Amino acid sequence: MVEKNIIVVGSGFGGLAAAALLGRNGYQVTVIEKNEQVGGRASVWKKDGFVFDMGPSWYLMPDVFEKFFAEFGKKPTDYMDLVRLDPAYRVFFSTHDSVDISKNLQKNLDLFETLEPGAKEKMKEYLEKSQYEYDIAMRDFIYKDYKHLTDFFKPKLIVEGTKLHMFEKLDSYAKRYFHSEKIRQILEYTIVFLGGSPYDSPALYSLMSHVDFNLGVWFPKGGIGQLVHAMFTLAKEQGVSFVLNEPVKKIQISQAKATGVITEKKTYDADSVIVNADYAWADTHLIEKKYQSYSNHYWEKRKIAPSAYLLFLGLDKPIKKFVHHNLYFHPQWGQHFDDIFKKCQWPKSFSYYVSCISKTDPMAAPKGCENVFVLVPVAPGLEDTDDIREIYFNKTIDHMEKLAGENIRDHIIVKRIFAHNDFSQRYNAYKGTALGLAHTLKQTAIFRPRHQSKKVKNLYFTGHYNHPGIGVPMVIISSQILADVIKNR
Ligand SMILES: Cc1cc2nc3c(=O)[nH]c(=O)nc-3n(C[C@H](O)[C@H](O)[C@H](O)COP(=O)(O)OP(=O)(O)OC[C@H]3O[C@@H](n4cnc5c(N)ncnc54)[C@H](O)[C@@H]3O)c2cc1C
Repeated sequence: MVEKNIIVVGSGFGGLAAAALLGRNGYQVTVIEKNEQVGGRASVWKKDGFVFDMGPSWYLMPDVFEKFFAEFGKKPTDYMDLVRLDPAYRVFFSTHDSVDISKNLQKNLDLFETLEPGAKEKMKEYLEKSQYEYDIAMRDFIYKDYKHLTDFFKPKLIVEGTKLHMFEKLDSYAKRYFHSEKIRQILEYTIVFLGGSPYDSPALYSLMSHVDFNLGVWFPKGGIGQLVHAMFTLAKEQGVSFVLNEPVKKIQISQAKATGVITEKKTYDADSVIVNADYAWADTHLIEKKYQSYSNHYWEKRKIAPSAYLLFLGLDKPIKKFVHHNLYFHPQWGQHFDDIFKKCQWPKSFSYYVSCISKTDPMAAPKGCENVFVLVPVAPGLEDTDDIREIYFNKTIDHMEKLAGENIRDHIIVKRIFAHNDFSQRYNAYKGTALGLAHTLKQTAIFRPRHQSKKVKNLYFTGHYNHPGIGVPMVIISSQILADVIKNR
């Protein structure tokens, strides 16, 4: 019997991409989403004229989006306006010391030279290697499904892996090039996008510098919500149906075969089921124990990626010293990584990120106002109470006021705090993680949870727990890999 009818549980980027690809491949696809809108972590919250992207705000790796839309004979710009940001972002090292990373590489090289004599030439070399790593990784590692250890431990891949610095840590790799801590911070901060720490993630991820400096930082006009809308429209064009506001309660499995899903309202029959909902949560909550791919103990032992303490703030005035993307690096930033990855506690002192998309997109805030999104990376699984939220709200605003050199607190007209409990309640996030499964060497490629269930042949998973991992481009690739797995089964 030809299997035609596929249910996708969850409409994050993983669910949207899988649905669009399988719809194009001729399947009848229904996406069932627990929330009131599609997009998952990339939900949009509107309040009093402010339009907040609730999750991702950096549109990186434009080549991945090009490649995905090309599968449908389309371009991302058929669905949205993209602008390359300049400056790409502003880095604050202290209240009186900041630098801008430009879209112009030459300017950045000159900047590095001012931070460390000789750094210009070293950066050229670093970037050449970074581009090489990116190209090889994209060609040989990333767009691949890993089912067996032998898929990964091929002599060719081990040789390539060594060349790609797979077995060295990012921080020690960057130290071989640069003495300047400021430069290393600029080169290493992108690992936080991948839910990792520079002290524990493979130096392979120095490829992110090619992403950052060469491919550039982009912004879809209207916000990342426009990318969600583009993928949703694309999926509907492939005949995909969507059901919102219906949490799936159970995946029905009979004799090791998935037969459908049960929601609060009804039962949906299916020939195959794809889970885009949080892998760890779904494996342990939606699937009968004997059919779980991994044990509860396995999930307990995983290195879960950070959660995030988020502020969505509407201000009645612009913040002059901030640009679209702003990063503050605390002088003891290693301690912040320790608090996240080793001590697993609320950070004593912290680096943070502030995005003001209203600098680029006036529609994101009422006239004369600022749309402000603040992100403090924090350990997953922490106690999240109203008191703690208020303490961190005050700490963050106090510091932002010092950075900005102006009063912020009295100009807040919209305020929402979003942290662990919200990630758990809104997205069923395991331990309240914002990002899924961290990128350590032991959680790379074959060592990430598999796309195909270990016990149920027609049950699949896609999203930020799978290979290749965290971030919108990676999650889209995860679904491209999955669509091939299903096509070739
Ligand atoms: C604050 C933040 C900032 C980020 N910044 C960036 C960035 O700048 N750039 C970048 O590229 N990436 C960024 N990321 C990462 C990126 O957003 C994620 O990697 C990606 O969106 C994850 O997509 P996903 O499809 O795997 O999961 P999700 O987006 O979580 O989608 C899973 C979906 O499943 C649904 N679901 C859960 N349980 C059920 C159920 N029982 N029934 C039905 N549906 C269910 C959820 O509601 C959700 O819609 C950020 C993430 C966060 C949280």
